[in-house]
Amino acid sequence: MPVKNGYVTSYFGNRILNGKKQFHGGIDFGTKETDKTIFAPLSGIVRVKGLSYSFGNRIWVELPDKTYYVLAHMAMLFDTYKENDVITRGQKVGIMGNTGHSFGVHLHLEFRIDPSNPRTCIDSPYFKQF
Ligand SMILES: [Zn+2]
Repeated sequence: MPVKNGYVTSYFGNRILNGKKQFHGGIDFGTKETDKTIFAPLSGIVRVKGLSYSFGNRIWVELPDKTYYVLAHMAMLFDTYKENDVITRGQKVGIMGNTGHSFGVHLHLEFRIDPSNPRTCIDSPYFKQF
């Protein structure tokens, strides 16, 4: 769990948000803890760190198979690491928040394949299931 006593508030897939049909590309977590520290769910290299319009304060982390995950909508990002640093599973990366296109304090976790490189798909363990 990327947050203490976290629970899923919205799963991946189609959903209704504010009365509109929407595809949700990630999974959302909430917590009732006052400590809303976010922990890296997987080790990797931080490729992007900072504020975006939609994801708010977020980091993009590159995994060894060149897939990426994003941790989004954080209230703040810790300055204990910077872009191109390695972060390890369990490392504290920020505080859960409500920045960017968000309606309430939560963590959005999403995975992406590098669209510029088909090998990221072919080399992925998920591809080999077919
Ligand atoms: Zn989400």
